[in-house]
Amino acid sequence: MIQTDIIIIGAGPVGLFTVFEAGLLKLRCHLIDSLPQPGGQCSEIYPKKPIYDIPGFPSVLAGDLIDNLMEQAAPFKPGFTLGEAAMTIDKTEDGKFIVTTVKGTKHEAPIVMIAGGLGVFEPRKPPIDTIDNYEDKGVEYIIKDPEFYRGKRVVIAGGGDSALDWSIFLAEKNIAKEVVLVHRSSSFRGHLDSVQKVIDMAGEGKISLVTEAEVTGITGDGKVEGVVITHQKDGEILRETDHFIPLFGLKPSLGPIADWGLEIDKNAIKVDTLDYSTNIPGIYAIGDVNTYENKLKLILCGFHEGTLAVQSAFARIYPDKKNILKYTTVNGVNGF
Ligand SMILES: Cc1cc2nc3c(=O)[nH]c(=O)nc-3n(C[C@H](O)[C@H](O)[C@H](O)COP(=O)(O)OP(=O)(O)OC[C@H]3O[C@@H](n4cnc5c(N)ncnc54)[C@H](O)[C@@H]3O)c2cc1C
Repeated sequence: MIQTDIIIIGAGPVGLFTVFEAGLLKLRCHLIDSLPQPGGQCSEIYPKKPIYDIPGFPSVLAGDLIDNLMEQAAPFKPGFTLGEAAMTIDKTEDGKFIVTTVKGTKHEAPIVMIAGGLGVFEPRKPPIDTIDNYEDKGVEYIIKDPEFYRGKRVVIAGGGDSALDWSIFLAEKNIAKEVVLVHRSSSFRGHLDSVQKVIDMAGEGKISLVTEAEVTGITGDGKVEGVVITHQKDGEILRETDHFIPLFGLKPSLGPIADWGLEIDKNAIKVDTLDYSTNIPGIYAIGDVNTYENKLKLILCGFHEGTLAVQSAFARIYPDKKNILKYTTVNGVNGF
């Protein structure tokens, strides 16, 4: 049984910063994440993209932000259970919580902070029967590192910003040898600038744009060697490629947390903005996973939420102790 002051479910940016804020109050944290690495969406979906709205950083790569948050949390020696989804929560007789993972690892604490973001990541997949056989063998649903595609032929499918931006990036920087963008409609959902840029690059022969068409099949022995593109008017064509990257977004799915008796609204946990507590005393929800009036799913908002939630957690754990806010400039960072 792993024992701590705060169990944080989700080691995304918000969970990680909360370790720091809890540490300033001398509260220990243990993080659980179903992914094998910390960083949430920043590490899993867009580690090489710059973020421009983190206060004090005019620009920071999402992956670098996570490295910095890990360094900032390090003095407070957080524990990690990675690669294991939190499945169940139980209450002990003395009012603590026990969170058990899919592998049976048990964690006990008086406070649980859910920083589960989009929940368990589930990409939207195209309806191709054999697609599962080619996952990580040429089919990827997320571009983590564009360098992976250097010198390769890629077929991207989708009509949103991800599909447009990555097609532009891989072609403009001469990373991929060949970029084909397939979209089932002739209009796109992405930003107008990006749509125009793709059309211009298609005119210059830098991107092959195939609209009113869908990828309906994959060929290859043990790995992707080609895709079948079915055009609404012209029928099927076989296109040789090394990678097929359907970028249809992620399905928000709270996963097991949805069955914990928490008040849920549209796949997110309802909280009181006084301290980001849920309807179950002792359980808080912070970051993308929560909802309230005027909620913005931004990293900086999650940082604020985690900061206020640990203050409230401190008062629950130590009802008789008075906590006086001390600036880090005055007190420094005194780790464990
Ligand atoms: C392409 C893209 C660009 C973005 N750009 C910006 C930007 O410029 N600025 C900005 O502020 N925001 C941006 N965002 C949004 C930002 O990434 C999110 O607001 C942020 O990641 C939320 O952090 P989080 O810690 O709340 O959740 P997440 O980052 O989603 O992390 C949640 C973690 O919880 C884990 N988890 C969930 N359920 C369980 C469970 N049951 N058991 C164990 N683990 C679980 C998940 O595996 C995940 O690792 C962007 C998002 C995307 C996709």
